[in-house]
Amino acid sequence: MKNMQTLYRQVIMDHYKNPRNKGLVNDSNYHTIHIKNPSCGDDITIQSKVEDGIVKDIRHDGTGCSICCSSASVMSETLIGKSIDEALNISNNYTKMLSNQPYDDTVDLEEAIVYEGVKQFPARIKCASIAWKAFNGTTKESE
Ligand code: ZN
Repeated sequence: MKNMQTLYRQVIMDHYKNPRNKGLVNDSNYHTIHIKNPSCGDDITIQSKVEDGIVKDIRHDGTGCSICCSSASVMSETLIGKSIDEALNISNNYTKMLSNQPYDDTVDLEEAIVYEGVKQFPARIKCASIAWKAFNGTTKESE
């Protein structure tokens, strides 16, 4: 179990130091949501582009703690290429898992599973879920 936690921490630090899909685009095909988490100082913007029911791209930018910034990167890598239904299903189960609500553990959270340990730290749950909530928001805007 200790080795798993070390591995998870390495994945989180890798995404924090080398974020994937970082940087916003100026493109009207993207929907943009900006969310702040005042309790920690996280301030993040998420953009998503959905075409033909597929998440074609996700961009993120902002400042915040390592959990928040890395989870935006992990979220983008996990959800790009998924159908919008799959992406929302993963996102909703991920946030339920974090907040200790019943969730469907047959849904593959992929790399996002590395945040499982965050649920032991209630103050950090918002840090780990803010990017995902923002993603959900961008998809609602496009309805
Ligand atoms: Zn934070």
